Amino acid sequence: MQITRPRGTSDILPGTTEKWQVIEQTMHRICREYAYREIRTPIFEHTELFLRGVGETTDIVEKEMYTFLDKGGRSITLRPEATAAVARAYLENKLFAQPQPIKLYCVGPMFRYDRPQAGRLRQFHQFDVEVFGAAGPGADAEVIALAMDYLARLGLKDLQLHINSVGCPECRQVLPEKLRTYLAGQVGDLCGDCRTRIDRNPLRVLDCKNEKCRDIGREAPTPLDCLCTACAEHFEQVRRQLDLLKIGYVVNPRLVRGLDYYTRTAFEILFSESGAQNAVGGGGRYDGLMETIGGASVPGVGFAIGLERVLLVLERQGVSLETAAPLEAFVAVAGETDELATRLLADLRKEGVAADRDYTGRSLKAQMKYAGKTRVPVVVITGEDEAARGVAVVRDMATGEQTEVPVELIAERVRTLSGR
Ligand code: AMP
Repeated sequence: MQITRPRGTSDILPGTTEKWQVIEQTMHRICREYAYREIRTPIFEHTELFLRGVGETTDIVEKEMYTFLDKGGRSITLRPEATAAVARAYLENKLFAQPQPIKLYCVGPMFRYDRPQAGRLRQFHQFDVEVFGAAGPGADAEVIALAMDYLARLGLKDLQLHINSVGCPECRQVLPEKLRTYLAGQVGDLCGDCRTRIDRNPLRVLDCKNEKCRDIGREAPTPLDCLCTACAEHFEQVRRQLDLLKIGYVVNPRLVRGLDYYTRTAFEILFSESGAQNAVGGGGRYDGLMETIGGASVPGVGFAIGLERVLLVLERQGVSLETAAPLEAFVAVAGETDELATRLLADLRKEGVAADRDYTGRSLKAQMKYAGKTRVPVVVITGEDEAARGVAVVRDMATGEQTEVPVELIAERVRTLSGR
């Protein structure tokens, strides 16, 4: 029986990998402009990190983690998100001893045992940004601006930015009680999960996908109704900065992020389309996270953008990314000119031309047929007679025009022809 890939994973093939390269290069470029530096953390971490750093009552921890014992009997988890790991790396490598804030980004695969569907995978990729050590609202606005700028540069349209404030621990003490009182009156209509959430984490009821729970959630008191003066002022400032940057947004008081560690600002970037998987990215502030995973109190704010979702939206919106041509020149070998072909190929590559040649020994006709199929714009033909005269034939595949060019000038000519 043929072995297939595990459910919820994908093979990203040539043709698509070039698109990934574009969205990753755009990410590196924009992060450099915003003065963020790349960090790379392990794909797996001690399970404890996510239990503490994501929160034991979250869907991610309760249902979605790939957790296993390694051969040494340690509980290991494939990272379901990046923030907890980046925060751990910040503490472990004493980045707090460097000038603050520390502005980091990373990209890579995340793993969640979720029900696969369009835009939802078990192995997916996130572009993740974190700022540690900046408590002011300017940092919140900057990461939001970075996320929106990134998506706009890739060509995504009609995005909606939803923002909210979930308050600080102080205001959050007010909300659960208000919520519990409200939900207790509606308990008969809540789903099973939400009934248990009333006591454990009533905020999560607002996040439930169940229709009835959503209806009940729409009328419930919100975090915005409970903000203390400092949190209200912070939120006001974030909004003012977004206005200043001309970034449009909707205040959505129902927005609560799935993760426990958020404080104050929470945001989500949605694309306007029906269907549940319409978030391209989301993030917010998590001033309590560092302490939760065993560090001193360090404020943090950041976001994660799902790259599969970015590609999905680009495709649905008919936006094509400008990818580099996989092949710009092909050397077709005729007669006993193998060594010349090898030399020319090396010259072409030195000029920065994506070049290939025939290695199969097939006829010139077959080589030209192959070249046609690859849609390569230029073919260099090395024939014996021409080689004896120190030239080779350069064929422009679009026009069919053939020119003899001195061997030492071929690479330059091809580079010009292929538009590089
Ligand atoms: P979250 O931290 O859950 O808000 O995830 C941030 C972003 O990652 C989401 O807005 C999605 O774009 C993406 N994402 C989350 N889970 C998945 C998944 N299972 N498959 C694909 N993308 C995902």
